Amino acid sequence: MKLSTAELFVFDFDGTLAPNLDLPEMRRRVIALTRAQGVPAAHFAHLYMVEIITAAGAWLASTESSPGSVQHAERAEAYQSQAHQLIEDFELDAAAGMEVFPKTREVLGGLKQADKRTSIVTRNCEQAVRQVFPDVDDYCDLLLARDNVEFLKPDPRHLQCALTHLEGTPQRSVMIGDGRMDMQVGRTLGLTCVGVLSGSSDAPALTAAGAHFIVENIAELAAHL
Ligand SMILES: [Mg+2]
Repeated sequence: MKLSTAELFVFDFDGTLAPNLDLPEMRRRVIALTRAQGVPAAHFAHLYMVEIITAAGAWLASTESSPGSVQHAERAEAYQSQAHQLIEDFELDAAAGMEVFPKTREVLGGLKQADKRTSIVTRNCEQAVRQVFPDVDDYCDLLLARDNVEFLKPDPRHLQCALTHLEGTPQRSVMIGDGRMDMQVGRTLGLTCVGVLSGSSDAPALTAAGAHFIVENIAELAAHL
């Protein structure tokens, strides 16, 4: 599909519309907290961050974690709330003083003027996104942050939610992101996928993950619209 014929543009946030979060550091901190609870790495090492907290919490709540103890549920709950707080604090710290990329408003504003629909689909929390992009609602039809949805990408239901609410069809929709999971989730639903190099991945990684094509950043994307 030519991008100029697309009707719905779904953007990732961090690394795509704004500078990337230090996700490796955030992950290190979540893992350190999880290890400190005695959760075996095999239960979480392969997972994304929020999923680590869910899986480790489930393990802590199980009898396997501390046979004979009756405190499973309390311990699991305390861990989960501490871990979620860690992520949120990290996101809000990173958001303080951060701005969207210089061309973000121009690109989104141009899409709006051309009567295209736009959504942001992000695993970041809504408060952090709004801190970085306070006027997001003026530029974007639908923000679907972590706390706005039940299922997070790479679960396709996160992206499907944007298509459903904005009446987008996969044939006329584009997923734009800096992460491999953005390309994977876009491909799963049959969207055209554009990888941007302004975040966490290089061109070979994005291509291998399913990008139909690659641009340096969203400013360059505008040239294709
Ligand atoms: Mg990203």
